[in-house]
Amino acid sequence: MLSASRIHWNNLAGAAGGSRVELTGYPLAPAGARSAENFVLLPEPGCCAVHAPADRTAAVEVCAARPVGIQAGALRLTGRWQICDDDPTGWRYRLCDARPVEAPGWRGVTRRGALFAGPLMCLGVAATPASAQERQASARAALEAGPAVDMHSHAGRIANAKRIREGFGFTPIASPMRDGGMAAICLAIVSDGPTHHVEGKRIRPYRDPAAGELYEYGTLAFQRVRDLVRQEGLRTIATAADLKPGTPGVVISAEGADFLEGRLDRVDEAFNRWTLRHLQLTHYRVNELGDIQTEPPVHGGLTDFGVEVIRRCNRLGVVVDVAHGTFDLVKRAASVSTKPLILSHTDLTVAPTPWTRRITAEHARIIAQTGGVIGVWPVASTYPTFAAMAVGMARLADVVGVDHVGLGTDLHGLVGKSTIEDYQDVPQLAEALLDTGFNRQDVAKILGGNYARVFGATLTR
Ligand SMILES: [Zn+2]
Ligand SMILES: [Zn+2]
Repeated sequence: MLSASRIHWNNLAGAAGGSRVELTGYPLAPAGARSAENFVLLPEPGCCAVHAPADRTAAVEVCAARPVGIQAGALRLTGRWQICDDDPTGWRYRLCDARPVEAPGWRGVTRRGALFAGPLMCLGVAATPASAQERQASARAALEAGPAVDMHSHAGRIANAKRIREGFGFTPIASPMRDGGMAAICLAIVSDGPTHHVEGKRIRPYRDPAAGELYEYGTLAFQRVRDLVRQEGLRTIATAADLKPGTPGVVISAEGADFLEGRLDRVDEAFNRWTLRHLQLTHYRVNELGDIQTEPPVHGGLTDFGVEVIRRCNRLGVVVDVAHGTFDLVKRAASVSTKPLILSHTDLTVAPTPWTRRITAEHARIIAQTGGVIGVWPVASTYPTFAAMAVGMARLADVVGVDHVGLGTDLHGLVGKSTIEDYQDVPQLAEALLDTGFNRQDVAKILGGNYARVFGATLTR
């Protein structure tokens, strides 16, 4: 059979009509259908077949050779590529004579997926116990090699103004980290916690902080992280050499540099007093450093103070994280930072909605060009399964390269449900990545090795 060339959602027009192609996406079919011959494939999970995609140039009509199981999340299909210029129903792209790629272990339509997809699917490729063990061992080896790092976390119930002020108890993190093979997590205080709240489905600021308020709150929040680290017997990671497998470690982080209150010397203070090694510039408040994705821009991106903070972080050895920042903020940050940037928790989108925290391919490429890493979020409404999340990571790797993809769980920080409920789930994600076609070295990079590279480059002068 002719080999199929893999095509990408950001360049559907680039594939030649009539050629054999391979495409991975999410099927949109009548509610309740378990299999279908004619359906729509989307780059992201769609809500339901009633809401057909508005932009039919960002969707592909699939005409399958035989019914395809469609209830297992993402699908990897090959077929003949057709570009339709005059389709009266408005479809521009069609995948004809499509069939699933039956890669070993691919969960979208074979193995586990097939077990639920009914008699239409070939059951002969179901996993044997021996290969399941091999996959688990391979996943474990990848996590060990990483070292496995979560680039953004609030695990242990460290955040939330009420918990901090009233001294609520922690939830365990060392034990789930060990079970999940995690070497380190970037544990972030939430600097603007007292000044934002949930409005409908959005988190928004609702008042200005009083002078000194967020500095004082930051002090309490850093102290709470320190208490958790001590109680759980974790290591505080202070140098590049500290980021290694073994006793679970914590990279002390802050989500939002609001505790600086516009004072540069407080970067040094946090570095020395709290071992801060990872600083996210902005969060849900347009602060002294720049604009955010979820509120109207005020500064036109990164402020001059934001530039000064990045330079100070570069000099001291603090990782700069531009999650939540606007595209303009990221562009200026990339132009001034001498170290790679992190964008710790987000997801790729081809059609950004207003106030989305997701990013476009162009936005992602700016981070990659600094040598940095973009962390994919385990938002369950987007990625209901580990297999789906692995495909999301593959899609980002297609855009920026596997060296620039990472994991940012936002554990205990997500408003909705998370695909990763705790760190013991991470090996399942590693297995799903292997199933998606990444080799062990790539899985090691995605689940922490890439972050370790940036961390090393940042902390080594
Ligand atoms: Zn966040
Ligand atoms: Zn967060």
